[in-house]
Amino acid sequence: MDWDFEGKSKTSVIMCRGCGRDLSLIEFHKMKDGLNNHCKDCINAQQRRWRAANKLKPGYGLNKKPQKKIPYNPNDYDPVKSRIRNRTWRNKEGNDQRIKEVWRKIEQQPWRRMSRKILRVIEEVLPGERETLTFLCGARPKQIYNYLVSNLPCGISPKDYDKTWSCKFLKDPKTFDLDYEKGRREAFHYTNIVPFFII
Ligand SMILES: [Zn+2]
Repeated sequence: MDWDFEGKSKTSVIMCRGCGRDLSLIEFHKMKDGLNNHCKDCINAQQRRWRAANKLKPGYGLNKKPQKKIPYNPNDYDPVKSRIRNRTWRNKEGNDQRIKEVWRKIEQQPWRRMSRKILRVIEEVLPGERETLTFLCGARPKQIYNYLVSNLPCGISPKDYDKTWSCKFLKDPKTFDLDYEKGRREAFHYTNIVPFFII
């Protein structure tokens, strides 16, 4: 191998930026534009630390071929197989705890609390309504929440939902013509929902 870098020969010595030792050029990895400024020992130690921190085995990442990306084909989607796979995963030991944990986190989200409040109003005004919140409001709960957040004045933090602000229906849904689907969807449409502030 030719170690003639910028006129330096194999016998030249440079200082490692990591450990500060004066080492010959062969102690450094070649880079695209010259030599690495950390010696091989320092790089190895760095990778050992990184592997330990990420709980990986020695040699991780070496000789690893990049995985071929299989393009998603909607025709390959088999709803029956998918349902079985899903059920198998859910029934596996330990996974029910994971599902509970995920749901517990979702339930704490402000948009989730907001959607529960809207659902309570729907239940109160239209007892036994079969349609979903998304259908009646014309948007998914998270979209409604983001819409309200975009209308918040400055100084009000979106995270403080239920603390400094909440949501309400601008026009009382009971005043709409609830006998017809059109009226029901107008009554609960997300543009009829506005933020209000708790003092
Ligand atoms: Zn070093």
